[in-house]
Amino acid sequence: MRKTNSKLIIAIDGYSSCGKSTFAKQIAKTLGYIYIDSGAMYRAVTLYCLDNNLINDGEILMNKLLEELDRIEIGFRFNHESQLFETILNGENVEEKIRTVYVSNFVSPVSKIKEVRKKMVKIQRNMGKDKSIVMDGRDIGTVVFPDADLKIFMTASANIRAQRRYDESIEKGQRVSFTEIEKNILTRDRIDEGRKISPLKRAHDALLLDNSHITVKEQMVWVMKIIEDTLEK
Ligand code: C5P
Repeated sequence: MRKTNSKLIIAIDGYSSCGKSTFAKQIAKTLGYIYIDSGAMYRAVTLYCLDNNLINDGEILMNKLLEELDRIEIGFRFNHESQLFETILNGENVEEKIRTVYVSNFVSPVSKIKEVRKKMVKIQRNMGKDKSIVMDGRDIGTVVFPDADLKIFMTASANIRAQRRYDESIEKGQRVSFTEIEKNILTRDRIDEGRKISPLKRAHDALLLDNSHITVKEQMVWVMKIIEDTLEK
């Protein structure tokens, strides 16, 4: 890992629903860094495809999608009230819409598309050019920021991850089935790990964090110690 002064790039990758965004948001808040949810960007592209009939009978209409790719604008806007970034798709706040099971069911097939990834990686690298950023996803430490100052690869048991996602959805008032959520998580992991381009994998220099049996507070204590050591280097 590269030596640095105070502005770090922190890359957090890992399996679906293992608390990457909760963790990344907390780190960003503690350090006063920007937090970017790269998964939200792939979800926004998927929402665009679903809303614009680019997915028909479960099939992605590849030619149409490639034709329309330049028309898809994705960014983030800071909400001062919630103190969080919201995902903006062509000017619309889609933060809630992109979290539905409907989008989750198609996001991994859309994320396999080379041209989609190329476009997202370009935006992500641009967001990280001033450093002081925490980004989570699947390929952040391997592809987007291979020189990141700190890389963490997260995992947890599939059952625990499904339970967490289920509790979160119920809390938001969404009607969901545990079995469907667990199936979606396992399917996404399989597609994300198996794809040719930028597959989900632990970077050789990423620290492994299995949070199946540790609390959010404990993992914060763990990471803050590592960040302090990294900053002192
Ligand atoms: O992080 P989240 O679960 O919201 O990501 C949704 C999906 O987006 C993942 O299952 C994966 O298919 C895709 N993704 C990706 N590369 C990233 C982030 C997300 O392929 N860097």
